Amino acid sequence: MAQPTPPKAGICLHCGGFPAVAITLGGRNRRGHLRTLTAHCPVCHGTGHALTDRRTVTA
Ligand SMILES: [Zn+2]
Repeated sequence: MAQPTPPKAGICLHCGGFPAVAITLGGRNRRGHLRTLTAHCPVCHGTGHALTDRRTVTA
């Protein structure tokens, strides 16, 4: 049965457990590598885990 896995307690609800993503900037650097920028989840700060059950209040 293919059912989506329900979010487990502790996983960040903002990013769903994928706290870091690589954003391509376009082009390549001198070494031929793809230029990427790593962005971390602003809620869990890249940990992928929610600190508390309460939603973080951001100003
Ligand atoms: Zn997160």
